[in-house]
Amino acid sequence: MFVLLRQLQNLRRDAAITPPPRRGSLALRHVDVGSCNGCEHELNAVTNPYYDMSRHGLSIVASPRHADVLLVTGPVTTRMREPLLKAYESMPEPRAVAAVGDCAMGCRVLGDLAALAPPLEELLPVAIRIPGCPPTPDVIAEHLLAYLHRRDRAA
Ligand code: SF4
Repeated sequence: MFVLLRQLQNLRRDAAITPPPRRGSLALRHVDVGSCNGCEHELNAVTNPYYDMSRHGLSIVASPRHADVLLVTGPVTTRMREPLLKAYESMPEPRAVAAVGDCAMGCRVLGDLAALAPPLEELLPVAIRIPGCPPTPDVIAEHLLAYLHRRDRAA
């Protein structure tokens, strides 16, 4: 194995091929704070073999403790307000919040119900806004990758 890697390195040097640039990655934790499940359906599609966002360095993780970005879908209901804030508090720094879909962006598609808490933007600092009802898998991946590139350029 070591010999093969050495030969590959020599081949690259001889052919003056520069190695591909190193790209960052994002660990994503999803929290549904009251959606109709339309956004979840599209979010699931981003991970399927067709869109396969893992090849771009985007992966869903099971705990906010391992996450760089909190993906939030739905309007924030009063019952989900505390779990949402707890998930955000559990994340390591640097952390970011993504509002996925028009509901999470505060468009009040479902009306101004008593069961709704203040909009996500008033509860947490939202860094990524992904519009649509629901947003398509391409749009979700596009916004997340744009954030990843912005973050890598700033580092
Ligand atoms: S944005 Fe549309 S699809 Fe997503 S949770 Fe709201 S109503 Fe459902």
